[in-house]
Formats: sequence, C-alpha cells, structure tokens
Amino acid sequence: MGPPGAGKGTQAKGIAERYGIPAISTGDIFRTNVKNETPLGLKVKEIMNAGGYVGDDITNGLIANRLAEEDARGGFLLDGYPRTPAQVEALDGMLAELGEKLDAVVSLTADTDEVVTRLLKRAEIEGRADDNEETIRTRLDVYAKETAPLLATYADRGLLVEVDGLGDIDEVGQRIADALEAKKA
Ligand code: AMP
Repeated sequence: MGPPGAGKGTQAKGIAERYGIPAISTGDIFRTNVKNETPLGLKVKEIMNAGGYVGDDITNGLIANRLAEEDARGGFLLDGYPRTPAQVEALDGMLAELGEKLDAVVSLTADTDEVVTRLLKRAEIEGRADDNEETIRTRLDVYAKETAPLLATYADRGLLVEVDGLGDIDEVGQRIADALEAKKA
C-alpha cells in the first residue's frame, strides 16, 4: 500500500521475484483491459482517467478470479489492492475461503512533493493517461481519504510493515526485504 507514485508497482515486481510468487496488480490488469478495449476496459476507462476508484464489486470480482488461478497457490503479492474498507472485507472473505492469510502489509511512504515529481516524470516516460497534474491531485486525495485509513486496520492486526519509499529502487527494495525478514523472525 502507499500513495500513487510511492513506487508500489516497481517494488511489487522485485518482491514477487525474490519470493517466486506472482505480483497481482489491479492497476495493471485494468490498464491491460483498457488498452485491449475489452468490455471491462471500456467500463473502467473513464473513471481511471479521472483518477477515481473503480467500483468495489468489479475490483473484488477481478481479484477473486485471479486468486483462484493456479500460480497463486504458492503465495502471491497484491499491488494496489485492497484500497477501500469493502475491499478489505472482501479480501478477508476470499482468504478465509482459500484457507490462507496475509503475512504482511507493506506500507510504502513518500511525501507529497516527491510523489508528484515522480508521477510527472513517469508521465513523460510512460505516457499514462492518469499521470497529469490535475488527476494526480485527485488520486492523492482519493488515496488519503479512502485508502490511508486502512493502514490502521492492518496495524491493529499486527501486519503492517512501514518502509520509507524515498531512495533509489535497489535501496528501497533492500529495505523492504529486510523489514519482511525481520517480521518473519
Ligand atoms: P495503480 O496502477 O495502482 O495506480 O492504479 C491505477 C488506477 O486503477 C487507480 O487510480 C484506479 O482508478 C484503478 N484501481 C487500481 N486498483 C484499484 C482498486 N483496488 N480499487 C479501485 N480502483 C483501482
């Protein structure tokens, strides 16, 4: 978890590789659908471009299907999910059904100025439709309002691992690895 621009996607791939598990990114799945103009993609395109959240039912259904796939049997990393209280609840239900539990929730922190700078830079490189200044601001607001409060939920459950997302990719990756190993011990 973490605000847009904290480096979730990049770090998720690194962690997943380290543990030999799939990184499941709701944002990536939605973007692929938008790109391929699937019925789901057409449904979510506008809301994504505006920086809002896709509806919980659609998002939860997507994750339920994805977690049922074979490659998730040996563990998985969720990137950008859950993001709302209803998603936390739905995920709890899915995990109970699968007989699994979360090992940790990584919170990647980064201050607002830094994430805005990063996202504007990413806009130049990747050309993501939602990386413009106005949408970035909306996404940060939505994160603060809808998602940041969920960190307390996972802290109460003893699952939260907070990691400073400032620094180069390898440095932050090492910090996450160390924090996860320390949690395991
Ligand atoms: P991300 O790549 O994680 O920054 O997600 C990009 C966009 O996809 C978000 O701004 C939302 O519009 C949508 N999205 C991704 N994950 C979720 C989620 N868990 N719930 C609702 N919308 C999501």
